[in-house]
Amino acid sequence: MSENKKGFITRALHAEFPKDDAYNALHMPVYDGVAYEFDTAEDIADTFAGKKFAHAYSRTSNPTVEYFEKKLKAVTNAHGVIALASGMAAISNVLMSLVEQGGNVVASNHLFGHSYALLKRTLPSLGIEVRFADMTNVEAIESVSDDKTRVYFFESITNPQLEIVDLDVLSQLARKKNIVVVCDSTITPSYVFDSKKFGVDVEVMSTTKFISGGAAAFGGVVLDNATYDYSNLPALKMWSDKFGKDALVARIRKEIFRHLGGTMTAHTAHFMNLGLDIMPLRIDRCIENCLDLGQFFSQHQRIISYNYPGIEGSKGYELAKKQFNGKPGAVMTFDLESKEACFKFYNRLKVMRKATNLNDNKTLIIHPESTIYAEFSEREKADMGVRPTMMRLSVGIEEVEDLIADFTQALEN
Ligand SMILES: *Cc1c(COP(=O)(O)O)cnc(C)c1O
Repeated sequence: MSENKKGFITRALHAEFPKDDAYNALHMPVYDGVAYEFDTAEDIADTFAGKKFAHAYSRTSNPTVEYFEKKLKAVTNAHGVIALASGMAAISNVLMSLVEQGGNVVASNHLFGHSYALLKRTLPSLGIEVRFADMTNVEAIESVSDDKTRVYFFESITNPQLEIVDLDVLSQLARKKNIVVVCDSTITPSYVFDSKKFGVDVEVMSTTKFISGGAAAFGGVVLDNATYDYSNLPALKMWSDKFGKDALVARIRKEIFRHLGGTMTAHTAHFMNLGLDIMPLRIDRCIENCLDLGQFFSQHQRIISYNYPGIEGSKGYELAKKQFNGKPGAVMTFDLESKEACFKFYNRLKVMRKATNLNDNKTLIIHPESTIYAEFSEREKADMGVRPTMMRLSVGIEEVEDLIADFTQALEN
């Protein structure tokens, strides 16, 4: 952010099209064609040989998706950007590109469920070993790292624990050991988080959440800060010889996502382009609502405790202020006296919606222990900080008075 003078929204709105539009459209049109024609045999041969760039087939690149990538580049300090079909496509494709068979990943033990399953089951089945550790504990991370560790993988803020990794500490260790720092910053997108400044080498995000503009479409993105020298990685050595700093994005585009088909579609990119422009307005509104709800929780007798790292006195407050500009996303948790009380409260809600997603424009609420974590044992749930008395709230952009009124009526005994 600091490397650019204009504000986030100005840069997003006025990012230049890769090519002038034939009709001077102000919004990038949706190019939903599959294949692109060439004028001559030489043109098509040079494009296939990688001597020049042109769109050839939309599974590899597409003008509307290219514009979304360009817009993201304009609003971040990333060196390389590539958009994919979903957050999971972004995460899986990055890890498969960075780690060779026999190499290992050290990952946080608090992760989005499907990321955890990818690391626990799918990657090991492909010969990539995964070791889980408490990423807030540098000794724990160091004790499971070795000379085959290629990646540290974690989320900028975990949920529902709302735990924050001290990035200066983690990235220092990673530099010392020559390990790539990969952060899933879905909950804290680039408007609030300058990942490069805190030593993150590669960011992955589910654009399904904040960026899409209210959970309107599935998408994912990889932002490469190009701060890691890829010639050190067995998986990328060859790509680094040919593409230098672009090795990771080149391998994803030319091999991994092309072969696995995890491409973003033009229609999805259209939603993302619209969503990204006004994301800062939505995030600021969500955060104001979080702070107002915190105030309300602090005064309500039936709320036993609550957590939001944007509120002074909460566990992650200092790190949230430093790393996320005091804008640590819009996920909050709170506890009632019992699981029964949570269910009774839940069934009385009229405005807030009973759903599992995050960062919709609508406020969404869920009881994690009986839903997202239902498959885990009591012991595992306890280890993950998932209490039967806890509710998770993804705060939206409604007028906060309406949310407070809904809380008030649903909490009445
Ligand atoms: C939703 C989510 C994902 C997965 O993204 P999809 O777009 O649903 O594939 C990954 N990480 C985090 C933190 C998420 O919240």
